[in-house]
Amino acid sequence: MKRKKTPGSGRKKGSKNKLNRAAQLAKALAEAGMTPLEYMLYVMRDPKVRPERRDEMAKAAAPYLHAKRAPENRDGHTIPPMIYTHPPLEAQCVTCGEYHPGDCPKREKQVVH
Ligand SMILES: [Zn+2]
Repeated sequence: MKRKKTPGSGRKKGSKNKLNRAAQLAKALAEAGMTPLEYMLYVMRDPKVRPERRDEMAKAAAPYLHAKRAPENRDGHTIPPMIYTHPPLEAQCVTCGEYHPGDCPKREKQVVH
C-alpha cells in the first residue's frame, strides 16, 4: 500500500546534500583563487581560527607536503622495505628439485639403464 505524501515533508529542493556542499566548497575555493591545499594552509595559518580547527588543517595538509618518514631501527638506520617473494605456484619436481610445470626438462638428460 502506497503512503500518501505528507505535504511539505522530505528534503527541500536544492538542500545541502553531500554533493552540493562539496560543489559549493569547490566553487568558493575557485572564486577565491585557492586550491584545497592552499585553503587548508590558509586556515591553518589564520590566528583568528579556533586552534582545534587549525590543528585539523595541519594534519590534513601534512601528507601533501611531507614525505612519510622511513622506518628506522634503534640505531637510527633506515629499515629497508620488506620484499615479499611469492612462493612458486608449481609443485616441486621430484626429479630435479626445481619448480616448473609439466614434465621435467632435465629428465631427458638423465641416463636410463
Ligand atoms: Zn624437474
